[in-house]
Amino acid sequence: MGNVLKIVRCGHCNVLWTSEVEESDSLCGPPHIKCRACKKINNTNRVLYRDMDIGDKIWVFGGLFLAVLFYGIFPVVLGVFAIIWGKDAGVIAIGIGAFGIWWGLFKQIDFFKKNDALYDKNGGFVWSNEEYPR
Ligand SMILES: [Zn+2]
Repeated sequence: MGNVLKIVRCGHCNVLWTSEVEESDSLCGPPHIKCRACKKINNTNRVLYRDMDIGDKIWVFGGLFLAVLFYGIFPVVLGVFAIIWGKDAGVIAIGIGAFGIWWGLFKQIDFFKKNDALYDKNGGFVWSNEEYPR
């Protein structure tokens, strides 16, 4: 899932939403972003987390899953075996792994859900300065 770098600006008034070059949008995100400068709605080709179908989720979480597997599940399994073999250091590996799973998966889902909630709170859009805080 390579990300293309691009400059983000409003499609109506052309104002820059961020002074930095951003990674391209991921699939999951607000479908509508309202410009702080001109107050007009810009459509994105993104979908809210709750609106993603199973194919979208596989696409979004595919890369994440590999990272979680490597940094989360692998250390946990290693740690369990270490304890079975009488090595107390296995506890540390399990701790690292549990943190990896939490960080990689739950934090990401939590982030998506918070963005969904913000979108609803605003009434069907996210402000450009919320999506691209400077
Ligand atoms: Zn604008």
